[in-house]
Amino acid sequence: MRRLLLSEIARMTGGRLHGEDAAIDLLSTDSRALPVSGAALFVALKGERFDGHDHVAKLLGTTVAGALVSREIDAAMPQVIVANTERALADLATTVQSTRDTRVIAITGSNGKTSVKALTTAILEQAAPGRTYSTPGNRNNEIGLPLAVLDAPEDALFAIYEMGAGKPGDIDYLVRVARPQVAVVNNIAPAHLERMGSLLGIADTKGAIYDALPSYGVAVINADDAFAPYFDNRASGRRIIRYGIDASADVTAKDVRVGPEGSSFVLATPQGEAPVALKLSGRHNVRNALAAAALALGADVSLAAIAAGLNAALPVDGRLITHRLDNGAVLIDDSYNANPGSTAAAIDTLAEMGGENWLVLGAMREIGHEEIAMHADIGRRAKSAGLRRLFALGELPTAAAQAFGDGAQVFDSHDALARALSEQLREGVRVLVKGSHSSAMDKIVTALLSAH
Ligand code: ATP
Ligand code: MG
Repeated sequence: MRRLLLSEIARMTGGRLHGEDAAIDLLSTDSRALPVSGAALFVALKGERFDGHDHVAKLLGTTVAGALVSREIDAAMPQVIVANTERALADLATTVQSTRDTRVIAITGSNGKTSVKALTTAILEQAAPGRTYSTPGNRNNEIGLPLAVLDAPEDALFAIYEMGAGKPGDIDYLVRVARPQVAVVNNIAPAHLERMGSLLGIADTKGAIYDALPSYGVAVINADDAFAPYFDNRASGRRIIRYGIDASADVTAKDVRVGPEGSSFVLATPQGEAPVALKLSGRHNVRNALAAAALALGADVSLAAIAAGLNAALPVDGRLITHRLDNGAVLIDDSYNANPGSTAAAIDTLAEMGGENWLVLGAMREIGHEEIAMHADIGRRAKSAGLRRLFALGELPTAAAQAFGDGAQVFDSHDALARALSEQLREGVRVLVKGSHSSAMDKIVTALLSAH
């Protein structure tokens, strides 16, 4: 972050400075993980179970040089007092962003945001080595995104931000902060349905990523998605680049070969064609690569840099990572997260690899009141895709096990499942582990890796 005075921060956030002015180099929102050097502004956020304001007083004598608060704290700590600290964080990021020349690329969608971000970053690193910034980790919400924007170096040529939507209006809020010039909705699938209502509700919220584009902006649209016509309309008036397996798309893949540890294809674009060898497995990652290529074209990157970036990109932890176990079995760790769309994609990826495939399924959560039917659908899909075994953990996956029928087993603890799986796994079997983040299926992966 560029150095700011507390008095400037007060001006940018419509707040009032209480105490002495001081220079700030970076922000912190977690009193347990303060920066080791530099002068920090502690942003006191209020969650359901915590309130940062309770921790301000004890930060005296640390790297914290001031606090952003919504009520005055009785401590000898300089404070910027605002009405709402979360809003002030967004205002600060908005003002800082508006003074930069960085080309901003924004990515939303139900699935594959982090993967598309990583692929796009790998491409832009070819075009602007050392001057490409992207959201660290998964900071894609109303707190993480402003922090990421503030964290970006002032001289970055490109910044790539992931934006998540958990409720209506979320993307509108985030694009007002980051102001993208190139944007994509990677896909629309059932996720967070409890708060989002319907698929159209999700499309409506995510479509806000196109509304914020300037007139010279570029809307990147997934031609294979059922909502493509809706987004074409929503982005009308802007330059549109469509990507997809659909042959009529501007950016498409020909001669696709999906292998166990990656795919190869010929990338076809309006600039010409180039062969690509992708180190990310699964057909959905070919689609993600097309999204990244289309975003890069929208940012005026050459075809040569796009192909080189895709060839160099590496998979992100927990997303379809292949491990070979010492008993000859293959473990595919896709434990990072799951919803019906991503689980179906993972099952199809497995089926396409051939051989004997098993699925370990934890609950898919936050998918609305049809959650039981959706789990049953996954069980049926796994069966018809030819998977031989299903190991289900907990209540919701039991519906998947019932729909799967012969070859399914249900467990009520991670330990019991890991033990049974470990005993039964043998050479020639490929097993995929999947479930929502909160189902903690990474525990199964860790147990298997340490047993074998
Ligand atoms: P989150 O909302 O948790 O931030 P995300 O949108 O960033 O997720 P990734 O982390 O890139 O998504 O991928 C999560 C999982 O989604 C992957 O492990 C994979 O199974 C699945 N996935 C990735 N890309 C796609 C896609 N294009 N279509 C369907 N499923 C996908
Ligand atoms: Mg993500």
